[in-house]
Amino acid sequence: MSYDLAVIGSGPGGYQAAVRAAQLGMKVAVVEKAELGGICGNWGCIPTKALLAAAELLERMRGCGEMGLTANEVGFDFAKVIARSRKVADQQARGVAYLFKKNKIEHIKGTAVLRKPRALFVDGKEVSTKYILMATGARPKALPGIEHDGDRVLSYREAMILPSLPKTLAIIGAGAIGVEFAYFYSVLGTKVTLLEALPRILPIEDEEIAQALAKSFQKRGIEVVTSATVEKLEKSDKAVKISLGGTAKRTIEAERALLAVGVRGNIEGMGLEDVGIKVERNFIVVDKRSYQTSVKGVFAIGDVAGPPWLAHKASAEGIVCVERIAGKTVANVPYDAIPGCTYCKPEVASVGLTEQAARAAGHDVKVGRFPLSASGKARAVDDTEGFVKVVLGKHGELLGAHLLGGTATDLVAELTLMKSAELTVDEIVATVHAHPTFAENIKEAVEAAYGHAIDI
Ligand code: NAD
Repeated sequence: MSYDLAVIGSGPGGYQAAVRAAQLGMKVAVVEKAELGGICGNWGCIPTKALLAAAELLERMRGCGEMGLTANEVGFDFAKVIARSRKVADQQARGVAYLFKKNKIEHIKGTAVLRKPRALFVDGKEVSTKYILMATGARPKALPGIEHDGDRVLSYREAMILPSLPKTLAIIGAGAIGVEFAYFYSVLGTKVTLLEALPRILPIEDEEIAQALAKSFQKRGIEVVTSATVEKLEKSDKAVKISLGGTAKRTIEAERALLAVGVRGNIEGMGLEDVGIKVERNFIVVDKRSYQTSVKGVFAIGDVAGPPWLAHKASAEGIVCVERIAGKTVANVPYDAIPGCTYCKPEVASVGLTEQAARAAGHDVKVGRFPLSASGKARAVDDTEGFVKVVLGKHGELLGAHLLGGTATDLVAELTLMKSAELTVDEIVATVHAHPTFAENIKEAVEAAYGHAIDI
């Protein structure tokens, strides 16, 4: 069998590229050694959202007295919460298998290796293909002298299938992974300490949002320690002891630690050096329009091709890549309009520049804010924590948008469209937003930038 395209990796980058290529008439194979669906479907986005949904509902049930409801014996069975998350992951993998069957994509189970000059082998057997697309993803980074061991020092993988609820948990790194697990475990009753080397949690988000989230976490009982550089981690059978340097100098003891300090590309053991594929700082170097690597006919997309390390960025790159291989004229991936979402409560979502970055770039900035406490919908559903913040340029264009609370991770879609379609405040203001919704807060935030919001 000879293929037009062999995709290596079946995560959201790889499987979506494979389906699109098949739709465009290519004969496609996907090489995958583990579960179909990649980290996102099996050990990332989806199973963590299942866990977070359980925590969020539990929190809502505990607070339902506010609405005049009584819920006696609100509780949980940790093993069942985990089991449901695994079931959702399995469904996700089966969904990808179904899509492969529907689109006549062959799943070759095994490990792919490239050999000179440009051949593909899976477990020693050659696979004949015109093009190769590497979508092999990334894995957690360790710290010098502090490695994941799957027991005391966890990665996200073990953190989502722990055998029992830890009494205490130290989380190193307050990026998306650290923050999401901090929320999940603290709602379930674990005493969480969240450690971040930089001066604030979610350091890539707008400062106001990050600070408001830190306050909210502290109110929930999460200990947030910023400017915390981990100097040493000592392990015993039942605990870890973390020594912090810098301004946060102290020692923290916990049953387990979750190490979530970023990722590195999965580039090893695939013969990249052998065929001459250029790699820089553990990621494959690609041309950002065609996604071709330094070797003709070999492409790379998603996490293995560098930041931002987000599932939807991987899918967007994969689809553009195969459409261009098929000879279609398509727009580039709009890298300045890729939304980022963190699914703790209150939810965090953003697109574009932070206020600080917009000012640093020399823009003439106008900022509009609308607090959820002034939203009728938020009050009605008892979810008033957070705000919408828009950062606008001098022509009323959206430089960046930052949302905290409500249904932020869904609402960011409107602002992403505004940014990628280069709409201005005029179009947003002229759009009738349904009332009562969280969405109308976006319009109000835009109006607030010009001093004519109605509800504040
Ligand atoms: P990250 O890069 O988002 O965050 C890592 C954090 O660790 C940073 O804030 C960094 O300053 C901090 N850090 C680094 N070294 C440290 C040290 N020695 N001590 C204390 N803190 C330290 O990485 P992540 O949270 O591990 O996630 C990995 C990737 O997966 C990210 O790119 C993330 O965006 C993505 N992801 C996204 C989602 C989502 O979209 N909801 C969820 C999970 C992961």
